[in-house]
Amino acid sequence: MHEMTVMAGLLEIIEAQARLEGFTRVARVVLEIGALSGVEPGALRFAFDVGTRGSVAAGAELAMEEIPCLGRCPGCGVQSPLAAPFDPCPACGGEPMEILRGRELRIVALDVE
Ligand SMILES: [Zn+2]
Repeated sequence: MHEMTVMAGLLEIIEAQARLEGFTRVARVVLEIGALSGVEPGALRFAFDVGTRGSVAAGAELAMEEIPCLGRCPGCGVQSPLAAPFDPCPACGGEPMEILRGRELRIVALDVE
């Protein structure tokens, strides 16, 4: 499951942060998840519950903010929400849109104890 790999990466970041800042418990993790990040929030929540067992983030609350996708046409410059990568521009029907936003997958906040 892709989300397990993603979760392992996030946990590494959290544990590195814990060593750096000296906290021993994380109460809440806030993530930004882009619509095109390829991560399914339900699966990520499951991976989080399983993957954080025995770690500093065990039992932490997981909050997820979904970031909608935004594209920009390299031809006419129009900006528009995108349903999928490589969708053509809705204004000129031309080239695939550049993705400005929607691939994010990052920790935006950690509440620690
Ligand atoms: Zn266009």
